Amino acid sequence: MVYRVLVQQTSQSFEVAANESVLEAALRQDVKLAHECTFGGCGTCRVKLVEGAVGYEQFPLALTPEEAQQGYALMCQARPESDLVISAEPAPEGVCEPQHCTAMVREVRWLTPEVANLHLELPDLPAFGYLPGQYMNVHLGDGTHRSFSMASLPNASRVDFHVRRIPGGRFTDAHLDRLGAGDLLEVELPLGAFRFHAEDYRPLVMVATGTGLAPIKSILESLLDDPDCPPVWLYWGMRSESGLYLDQEIRRWTPRLYEFQYVPVLSRASNQWQGKRGHVQDAVLADIGDLSEHSIYMCGSPAMISDAKQAFLAHGADLEHIYTDGFSFQHASQA
Ligand SMILES: Cc1cc2nc3c(=O)[nH]c(=O)nc-3n(C[C@H](O)[C@H](O)[C@H](O)COP(=O)(O)OP(=O)(O)OC[C@H]3O[C@@H](n4cnc5c(N)ncnc54)[C@H](O)[C@@H]3O)c2cc1C
Repeated sequence: MVYRVLVQQTSQSFEVAANESVLEAALRQDVKLAHECTFGGCGTCRVKLVEGAVGYEQFPLALTPEEAQQGYALMCQARPESDLVISAEPAPEGVCEPQHCTAMVREVRWLTPEVANLHLELPDLPAFGYLPGQYMNVHLGDGTHRSFSMASLPNASRVDFHVRRIPGGRFTDAHLDRLGAGDLLEVELPLGAFRFHAEDYRPLVMVATGTGLAPIKSILESLLDDPDCPPVWLYWGMRSESGLYLDQEIRRWTPRLYEFQYVPVLSRASNQWQGKRGHVQDAVLADIGDLSEHSIYMCGSPAMISDAKQAFLAHGADLEHIYTDGFSFQHASQA
């Protein structure tokens, strides 16, 4: 059975064959829909169904049953069960189309044994720019790529990334150690829809695990000294004290962000640790029982995001004000 999909914002339409996901069909017919991991882990391809119904062979990690009930769907996994009208958030003003360019490595500095600060120079940056929260793809030359979020503000051609070493990882383990000043990387940016929603006018709850801090750092730096900055809570989940690679810098934001509360949360803290322990989402709920008035930004582990989203929805959070950026990764078979 072939179904037709209409994209509400652009009036583009395309057909989905019986064995295809909506995203596969869109890309085959040159209809652009935001996406990244293509296996339901990152949530980048989430849209709202205005009309019609979809099903899933396997319900995707990056979608909660509550989201599905409220009409959201993940295009990379969704199979139409009728003709569809979908609402895909248009790119905000000021964001350019993704472009390929050659970036020069300025420095690779290990902040901890597990996390490197990758400092790149993007010669063409002023030509396109990006929004805090977005990411780039590094192309490895064999048709595959790896995604990393910009950790610094888009105000210069030099851009920082926080890269976690994945043991055995082709890029973050094998390649990164060999990179040095002057080496070149083929990259594509800006990508992704994760960004600050100033129009919400709500107190902010920012939740990161590990290097999920990177896009949140970029967003929060854009709010430093901003008179319209809402109250900000930042929860940063890590395993142990030594992993908190940006702790001192974050503490220095305190006088420059409105009512800023910074809460590091450790899952394997030493006995000396005086702060919060356990899962980052539990720490949020221990402090803020009712999340109905907040905008919530979550970034990092897809499993944390999935658990936290469900827990926060049960405590009043509004799906319209939850923004997520799951750091999924390519299947080994695709890498
Ligand atoms: C939109 C987006 C933004 C991202 N931004 C960042 C960022 O700013 N900083 C950052 O450190 N990471 C980020 N990631 C995750 C990052 O892209 C992957 O960890 C990276 O691609 C791993 O590449 P690799 O070649 O080293 O590993 P690969 O060779 O691709 O993987 C080797 C194996 O390791 C496992 N693996 C890979 N990555 C992960 C992971 N993240 N968690 C658990 N297991 C994994 C898999 O089993 C995989 O088969 C982001 C991901 C997405 C989708």
